[in-house]
Amino acid sequence: METSRSEAIVLGAMDYRESDRIVTLFTLQHGKVRGVAKGAKRSMRRFGGALEPFARLGVELVVREGLSSLRGADIVSLYPRIRADLLKIALAGYAVELADRFLPDGAPSPRLFRLLTAYLEHLEQGEAREGDRRFFEANFLNILGYRLALDRCAACGAELSAVAARRRGAAGTVLCGACGRGGAEVGPETVRLLDLCLGTGRFDAVAFSSAALHEAGELLDDAIAAHLTRPLNSLAFLRQIEADEP
Ligand SMILES: [Zn+2]
Repeated sequence: METSRSEAIVLGAMDYRESDRIVTLFTLQHGKVRGVAKGAKRSMRRFGGALEPFARLGVELVVREGLSSLRGADIVSLYPRIRADLLKIALAGYAVELADRFLPDGAPSPRLFRLLTAYLEHLEQGEAREGDRRFFEANFLNILGYRLALDRCAACGAELSAVAARRRGAAGTVLCGACGRGGAEVGPETVRLLDLCLGTGRFDAVAFSSAALHEAGELLDDAIAAHLTRPLNSLAFLRQIEADEP
């Protein structure tokens, strides 16, 4: 069996048998991989503190269908500033759970890998901002082929740039005023900013007003929930932390 080296982000880890751990990794070269780290619980020598959620690693893997084998791991970053801040922990935990739940096994996605590492790097270096989370989500959905449809009414197909008002439909859709009667409004600024998120690769390039942030957030939350069969554990935690923030 051939050992390969890969860049990886830890999406999750759990104890397995007496002394092992099973780790879910998002690797640059192989996509999402689940692997067993033998002796990881008993011996700190080989893996140290590397197998923590959202740690960035260089790993040695024997990739197999089903369960791979994690032979070694070097820490690139544990993101210490994220780990010193409860809101950042919640945001990073949310980002890796999203990746874990949406990514199929064994399908590499370098763009998504770059987006996730850029978000973690951004959380590490800067403030924990709601707009950055929404930037991450809009691009995350787009890369996976679930781009928000902002151009046309999801019910009748009318061009939304030509209608007087846009309304929020079910499952993260946008409707024209006639089809979405009674629904919450989606203002032109929200649409413009979401488009801008998808048109730039930089986290700092988009500044949301609080109204646009709210509207974009509702759309993105609905769109994400529509693709999941059960709610994200990390989202409940994130909402609790956000509610406690001053
Ligand atoms: Zn319509």
